[in-house]
Amino acid sequence: MSKRDYYEVLGVSRNATEDEIRKAFRKLARQYHPDANKDDPTAAEKFKEINEAYQVLSNPEKRKLYDQFGHAAEQFAGAGAGPGPGAGGPFDFGGFGTGDFGPFGDIFEMFFGEAMGGRRRHGPERGRDLEYHLEIEFEEAATGVQKEIRVPRVMTCPICGGSGARPGTQPVRCPRCGGSGQVQHVTTTAFGRFVRATTCDVCHGEGRVVQDPCPECHGRGRVRRDQTVQVQVPAGVDTGTRLRMSGYGEGGARGGPPGDLYIVVHVRPHPQFRREGDDILLEVPISFTQAALGAEIEIPTLDGPVPLRVPEGTQPGATFTLKGKGMPRLKARGRGDQIVTIRVEIPSRLSPRERELLRELARLRGERVEDSKTFLGKMRDAFGM
Ligand SMILES: [Zn+2]
Ligand SMILES: [Zn+2]
Repeated sequence: MSKRDYYEVLGVSRNATEDEIRKAFRKLARQYHPDANKDDPTAAEKFKEINEAYQVLSNPEKRKLYDQFGHAAEQFAGAGAGPGPGAGGPFDFGGFGTGDFGPFGDIFEMFFGEAMGGRRRHGPERGRDLEYHLEIEFEEAATGVQKEIRVPRVMTCPICGGSGARPGTQPVRCPRCGGSGQVQHVTTTAFGRFVRATTCDVCHGEGRVVQDPCPECHGRGRVRRDQTVQVQVPAGVDTGTRLRMSGYGEGGARGGPPGDLYIVVHVRPHPQFRREGDDILLEVPISFTQAALGAEIEIPTLDGPVPLRVPEGTQPGATFTLKGKGMPRLKARGRGDQIVTIRVEIPSRLSPRERELLRELARLRGERVEDSKTFLGKMRDAFGM
């Protein structure tokens, strides 16, 4: 996924003042605040994006770095504060800082070294959130359903409890950095001596090393396990509904709490019913004689067929509302309505007798219709076509 330019996100120019940035942020944050946009599932994402852009552009150092290197700057910034060992996945920049930094390493250390690295690395770290896409039937969305899903997740190693050390042993202080997680490099140049700190290449910034690794997790402290999760899907969910299961995400590092699991619901389309908000839309065909004379017809609903009285003279496209026959309202009481739209079907084949009766009707109403005495008309009459 390519990230949008932060200036574009906030709708400001590249040389906007801090004040302009703050004003643009406030305006957008109000507009997209998730509390004010409960019906818009994309608002939360937008809000996050706006927030992220502001975090960077409102900080002069981060902004400078961003102006120079774009989004790449943050990835390297993230390397220091990033996920712990064994986290895996496309956003794992844990590998940086172990050795060859490349050109960004120094910059990262200059701007973010102390602020973002260091302390946080040693402390507990919350596990990542996970997202699971769950497909359910239309009827299941209406009634609610319990689903058992298997979620591959990284969890705290049950054998060593996350330390990474063989049970009975303890990680020891890193001999290279003495436990600080940082190594100092001194460079002498014509301009003077420069001291630069980088992440320790032995302990990867942990400050401690495992001498006798746990046989289960090989020293990583976390293991990948499929977990069976019972998901209680409430009645009324729709495609795009996100259900949060607190604590069902990936395990935290160094005793940190687990992340959350987000279930993203996808509702399969129904062959007849269409959903609009909490209402169900349905098109029902009736014959032109039923439309003209009125009739009692049967309408399929989520609760089974119900009778509907169509009055005399019903026009094509007429709608009837079946109160409370729609979808249950999510997080609220009651149900939406079912809205029935009438489609009037004109017969494409008539028997001679039917044709005769319709001509009679046309004569009564003084309407001009096709002459039955044409050749085609006679053929139709003769062969009942
Ligand atoms: Zn282990
Ligand atoms: Zn070390």
